[in-house]
Formats: sequence, C-alpha cells, structure tokens
Amino acid sequence: MRATVFLPDVQKVLEKRSEPAYRLEQAYSALTRSLIRDWEEATNLPKGLRAVLAEGAPAAVLELRGVSRATDGTRKYLFHTRDGHAIETVMIPEKGRHTVCISTQVGCPMGCKFCATGLLGIKRNLKAREIAEQVFVAARDIAPHRVSNVVVMGMGEPFLNYDETLEALKVLNDPDGFALAARHIAASTSGLVDRIRRFADEPEQFHLAISLHTPFEDERKELMPVAARHQIPELMDAARYYVEKTHRKLFFEYTLLAGVNDQPRHAEALAELLDHPLYHLNLLRFNWTDTGFSATSQRGAREFLRYARSLGLPATLRPSRGQDIDAACGQLAAKDLRGRTAVSLSS
Ligand code: SAH
Ligand code: SF4
Repeated sequence: MRATVFLPDVQKVLEKRSEPAYRLEQAYSALTRSLIRDWEEATNLPKGLRAVLAEGAPAAVLELRGVSRATDGTRKYLFHTRDGHAIETVMIPEKGRHTVCISTQVGCPMGCKFCATGLLGIKRNLKAREIAEQVFVAARDIAPHRVSNVVVMGMGEPFLNYDETLEALKVLNDPDGFALAARHIAASTSGLVDRIRRFADEPEQFHLAISLHTPFEDERKELMPVAARHQIPELMDAARYYVEKTHRKLFFEYTLLAGVNDQPRHAEALAELLDHPLYHLNLLRFNWTDTGFSATSQRGAREFLRYARSLGLPATLRPSRGQDIDAACGQLAAKDLRGRTAVSLSS
C-alpha cells in the first residue's frame, strides 16, 4: 500500500491507537488530494484523531519560508526542512500550463562546472514526502489552476536518490494520490547509466531527460565530472536501452555556453550521435551563475537550433524563465530571504 511507505510516522501513530486500517488511507488522501497542511483541515478524520496526529506526526514536513514572484509569473518557493536545510522549488506558468520544478537533494555532489547547485556540494538526500510536498504546496498556491506538469530539474541529482525520488513520483502519479498522469512527469539526470536502465524498467510511463551538454568526450569531462565515470558510448548504450524498452521520446538537455559548446561542429557531432527517431535535443539558454561561463546570445542559440534541425535533428530551444528571481535551471542555490546562501542553517 502506497500510504504505508509514504507516511510511516502517521501509520505508527494510528497503530498505537489501534485505529482501523482505512484511517491511514484517509490521512493519505487528505495530504495528497485535499493538500492539507495541518491535520485540523482534514475534515475526513475525527476531530480527536486530528489533534493526536498533529502532536505525533505533523501534516507538513516542510516549512514554507518565502515565495518570490518573477515578472513573467514564475514563482520560487523557499522551504526549510525540519532539520534546518533550505531547498527551492519553482512553478513556471506557460501557455495555460503550470509546471512545477522540484528538488531531490539538499545541494548536489555532481559538481557540474556551470551549475550553482553543484557549487554547494551535498548535504543530504530528501525523503519522498519532502520531494512530493513541494508539489502539494505549489498546487495549493496556484489553485484554482492545477499543476499540469512536474519536472525533477531542481536541486540535486535525482538518480543519486533513486528510491525516494521514485516513491515521490509514484505518489504524484497515484490515482488515489495526487493523480497526475505519468506522461506529465519528467526526471532529468546528469547521466548515471545504471539508473537510466532501472528507470526504463519502471512500469510507470515517466519521461526522462539526460543532460549531455556536449557531444565530445574531452569537453564533457571538463564540464561534468560524471563524464569521467561514464563515457559517452556507455551513456548512449543506456539511452538506446531506454528508448527500445519504453518506446518513449528521450530528451537530451544541452545548455548553450558561449564559445564552449555552441559551434557548428557541436551541432554536426550531435546530429551523428543522437541517431534515433525518439531522441530529441532540448537546448537551454545558460542562466547566469557565478561560474565563469556566459550564455550564447539569443541569436546564436536560434542559429544553433536552425543548424541542428537542418541536419535532421529534432530539437527545441527552451526559453529561460524566472531569471529576475534566480528561479531558472541551475540557479537554485537556496539563498535565504536575506540573500545569503543558506543550504544549512544548522551548521
Ligand atoms: N541534476 C539533474 C537535474 C537538475 S539540473 C541534471 O543535471 O540533469 C536541470 C538541468 O539544468 C540540467 O540539464 C542541468 O545541466 C541544467 N543546468 C544546470 N545549471 C544551469 C545553468 N546555470 N543554466 C542553464 N541550465 C543549467
Ligand atoms: Fe547536480 Fe544537475 Fe547541477 Fe550537475 S547540473 S551539479 S547534476 S544539479
């Protein structure tokens, strides 16, 4: 039963009181469907039980410390975990859709050279409930609009926290839970090949994106330390396994860095490397971080896109969103409300 894995603390309280089994289901529904943040709001539970739960297993595991709003409508949520870590979540409105970008770790150990989260290092993995609750809070915030998509592209490498991330995605997908269709949920990995295969074997139809950033081995090693562990041919073997197993489109993320990976030779090598009809190149503008890189101009990015397409490569260029509040991909570094980087408030 999903609720048992997701809410062990609630189950413990219920068992101690010898409550009937359906109470756990009711509590699960209150959190994942009614999106309550306080057991007092759970009108499907008896009043006395609500008070006991509030004492023994509080409804919210994350404390919402602040919301920033960008001029383009993007919102960034700053949360504190119970043990005092800061994490961020972003909600991006676009053409009637509302996409929530969630974090899976406090910081990230992968050390990609252009990423602000990578600069932080890793503090800890998030639990499934902490991962899913980010979506619940955003969903409450944007009501009566509904969350239409969830992307696991916030802080952290989701496949280093595989089990908790998957559990969170399953709750988001669960028809008795948040009930978001699996094809509206996508995870992004820097390229952990074993986990890509495992993800392909999952029964749910979640989407996957692989961060590639250059088709050349030596350049990839410079940009992403993970490339030393898994070379491009090994990564492409896992990619091939994924599409052959799932028959789903596979996205390759490619952040355009001026003078680094945005030359015609890159587009040419990409067209050769991404040689499967289900492969899709997702070009991202670089969102400024203090890492010494700079963004390819808008014109340069469009040219790169046009050239890649002319070589037969299906590709799109994603616009940058929420830049005025540092809410874009790779910029999440959990600055606290006073603007200091505050990944851990306890240390
Ligand atoms: N850790 C996962 C998912 C989170 S990052 C991964 O790396 O795939 C989501 C995407 O944003 C990745 O493709 C990542 O490489 C990219 N990214 C990181 N920093 C960026 C920045 N400053 N500007 C644009 N994209 C960035
Ligand atoms: Fe981690 Fe992804 Fe940033 Fe790399 S790009 S450091 S994997 S969050």
